[in-house]
Amino acid sequence: MTGLSEIRCNEVAIDAPTPTDAGLVFIGTIRTPWKSPLDCPHQGRHDGPTCRIEVHEPWVAALDGIDEFQRIEVLYWLHEARRDLVRQSPGDDGNTRGTFAVRSPVRPNPIGTSIVVLVSRQGPILDVRGLDCLDGTPLLDLKPDRMGFKPIAPPRRGDFETG
Ligand code: SAM
Repeated sequence: MTGLSEIRCNEVAIDAPTPTDAGLVFIGTIRTPWKSPLDCPHQGRHDGPTCRIEVHEPWVAALDGIDEFQRIEVLYWLHEARRDLVRQSPGDDGNTRGTFAVRSPVRPNPIGTSIVVLVSRQGPILDVRGLDCLDGTPLLDLKPDRMGFKPIAPPRRGDFETG
């Protein structure tokens, strides 16, 4: 990516509908070493730099219990990405793929997800490794990684349904 809004050879933009409010609330801010998309990793690494997730009030109480998990799924809003491409050229070589066949930040709803390793927690601050977003990226949600999470609710019929 050489800029946030340029179109590459053979990429296809559409006249995207005006975004409507899906009712999302930003619950915090992500602090990383990266000020430019050109410096961000394409995908976060668990041996990458420690980044900081700052959870804002009134959501701090919602962190209770999160320290039990080594890995956390982080959802964030890639706020500087354009939202109108249906074909993209990740290699910037004229070869394109559909937007839903790549993990580029450019998508109709620019939601990024990463599984991070929890390094430490001090109140509303989580230090984690494994992120790949710009400093100041808005935080959407945190969930325990499903691999380390056992449902607490009693089983229901659908849990056993196959076929
Ligand atoms: N790991 C997430 C995923 O797979 O859903 C995001 C992957 S995306 C390829 C990561 C890239 O998005 C970064 O390398 C950077 O170029 C870009 N990016 C990061 N933060 C951004 C932001 N806040 N707005 C727009 N683009 C961003």
